[in-house]
Amino acid sequence: MSTNNLPPTLQELLQNYKTQLSDLYSTSEIDYIFFTLASKAFQKDKSILRTALNARWSDFAQKRLFLDSALFQLQSGTPYQYVVGETEFLGMRIFLNPSVLIPRPETEELAEKLIKQITKMHGSGFNGSVIDVCTGSGVLALAVKKAFPDARVIALDISEDALEVAKNNALYHHLHIEFLQQDFLSIDMSDMPYFDFIVSNPPYIPQSEKSEMSPVVVNHEPHQALFVEDQNPFIFYRQLYDLALASLRPKGKLWVEIHQDKHEALVKIYEEYFAQVIPHKDYSGNWRFLEISKPITC
Ligand code: GLN
Repeated sequence: MSTNNLPPTLQELLQNYKTQLSDLYSTSEIDYIFFTLASKAFQKDKSILRTALNARWSDFAQKRLFLDSALFQLQSGTPYQYVVGETEFLGMRIFLNPSVLIPRPETEELAEKLIKQITKMHGSGFNGSVIDVCTGSGVLALAVKKAFPDARVIALDISEDALEVAKNNALYHHLHIEFLQQDFLSIDMSDMPYFDFIVSNPPYIPQSEKSEMSPVVVNHEPHQALFVEDQNPFIFYRQLYDLALASLRPKGKLWVEIHQDKHEALVKIYEEYFAQVIPHKDYSGNWRFLEISKPITC
């Protein structure tokens, strides 16, 4: 840090971030975090800031306050995505806050698998309809609408705050998505339209697993999006089952993200009525997704 009264340079502030955060993040992560925050504080592109590392900025107090308070949050373990207020999903800039989960790489895989299948079945001009249940920050809905601009995409969530985040993301990307604020667990299926695809990453972690999880997740991410009661761990999957029975068009598919230890039990449940239930592994080798097809009779 500078020892005189001059405001510090970005180089000095960056060095301070590196020193303070070295136990939590790698140097390249700190670099990304710092420049993303500095870009917000200075309202300048990262590339411009990188060329002005040794400049001393006037009216620095507010910017300094912003960067110092962000550093404090980072040091106290707040995930950096919440501190910088954004992340990436399949290359898309996604704004977020603690009312939504930080999108996981598995969920990117789910989006990729779904998009690949829709393209294979219908081509990129697909103009059917898709619903993303428990949309959170909206990432699955956004990815589908971006890949298939002619599709009708509906995104549902119980949380008003989450939907605000999702709507913001849709606005930023100029994607028209229909948002529904509803408690999926008490939805009346007869009110739902027909869908060609249903996709969902619902809450699926039993409460009892909380104690084995990283405090970074448990202390900062929304419990409503993560946890289900131990006595009823498949509550969302049962409701998705009913939605699929009521609303999937012939040849329609339901794609769900699942708990890695639960695929056998879930396959059994869905196999009672659905023609084909295919579990898929994620890149880490965990059973993470189910692809479910309509009953043969439909
Ligand atoms: N995969 C997330 C996690 O491990 C959980 C997502 C969810 O519950 N839907 O934290």
